[in-house]
Amino acid sequence: MTEPQWLEAWSVEEGARRVDELFTSSFDGSPEGVWSAPGRVNLIGEHTDYNAGLCLPTALPHRTFIALRPREDDRVRLVSAQAEGVWEANLSDIAPGTRGWGAYVAGVAWALAEAGHKVGGFDAAVDSCVPFGAGLSSSAALEAAVAVALDAVAGLGLAGSDTGRTELVAVTRRAENEIAGAPTGGLDQSASLRCREGHALLLDFRPGLSALESGVPVPFDLDTAGLTLLVVDTKAEHSHVDGEYGARRAACERAAKLLGLDSLREIAPALGGMGIDRALAELEPHDADGVLRRRVRHVVSEIDRTARFANLVREGRAADVGPFMLASHASMRDDYEISCRELDLVVDTAMAAGALGARMTGGGFGGSAIALVNQADVDTVAQAVADAFADAGLTAPVFLLAPPSAPAA
Ligand code: ADP
Ligand code: MG
Repeated sequence: MTEPQWLEAWSVEEGARRVDELFTSSFDGSPEGVWSAPGRVNLIGEHTDYNAGLCLPTALPHRTFIALRPREDDRVRLVSAQAEGVWEANLSDIAPGTRGWGAYVAGVAWALAEAGHKVGGFDAAVDSCVPFGAGLSSSAALEAAVAVALDAVAGLGLAGSDTGRTELVAVTRRAENEIAGAPTGGLDQSASLRCREGHALLLDFRPGLSALESGVPVPFDLDTAGLTLLVVDTKAEHSHVDGEYGARRAACERAAKLLGLDSLREIAPALGGMGIDRALAELEPHDADGVLRRRVRHVVSEIDRTARFANLVREGRAADVGPFMLASHASMRDDYEISCRELDLVVDTAMAAGALGARMTGGGFGGSAIALVNQADVDTVAQAVADAFADAGLTAPVFLLAPPSAPAA
């Protein structure tokens, strides 16, 4: 027996105390305030955001905290409990290609300025209990925490409404895409800024939708249903992740172009599209090895599963979503080819130990998996997964409990 390792979320008081102390020991005086933002898990809807599709994330109780104080000049000075030394730059020097973790922070100030908002320099201290690179969006948690902090100190008032938060999503996404240089699709930032406690957020990435249409909170009451969402950080890290992500995006763009569509979402008959069978038939002459058709089949079926999953949750039938989680995992493993040995092991072991459903979550090639588990079975499932990893000679995974939690604040 291998004792499962748990990563507990800090309380807001604990996180605030940590960054306040780090700020005062790094800079003279006190911060103007403390803000924080959550990591996220995606319940279903993977690699659909950049296909104008649907995703269904919840916010984690695990958050990134920032203590911040504006400056008179345009200097940015940053410290993080997760990084060495002080990261420093002038806002006027921030541009695509800015290096280091400070790019995620200063990039948000840059993107706010690009959007026409007046922001000056600042000193800030960061600390986080969101694991890095585990598919739980520590990068978006950091960006969203910075966004609500700068929103407050510059008096922009955007964080006060869902419409304003949708603007902050666009800002933080530009920071990540253009300054940090990660071509992600917007799911992570939307989740950290717009999720609500006790809810999942049904995101629709079709262009031109209002804030109200693009993010619909769906009550997701796990406690009443006697359920727990268990997250397993597999600690698996695979090389070439960025290249594989880019290759998946490129395949989707190529398929859409061959079909004469702006996005794969438009294949959906409900939107007047041609349907999956005709799409696959039209792609066949261009797709000798079948790769393009497998990618398209994942995206189209995943969008459909996400809509159905959200409907079940809305009807209070969270206990019935398991088959959709398993179908989603199989689609990512076989058609999108983004799973790996560790993720498959979590899913198979959790199901054998009594989970109602399980799937990998996030971009893939490592990172985390989720399992929906009856509350009474949480320890049994975690134990089974910890043992399976030990038996296979793999690095011990880390377990997180993930009740749907509050957004950036
Ligand atoms: P993920 O978002 O899945 O955790 P990413 O690679 O997108 O992984 O983002 C991780 C990067 O974000 C880190 O390498 C670091 O540059 C930055 N980052 C996130 N949180 C922090 C933090 N608390 N302190 C410093 N840098 C951070
Ligand atoms: Mg990230």
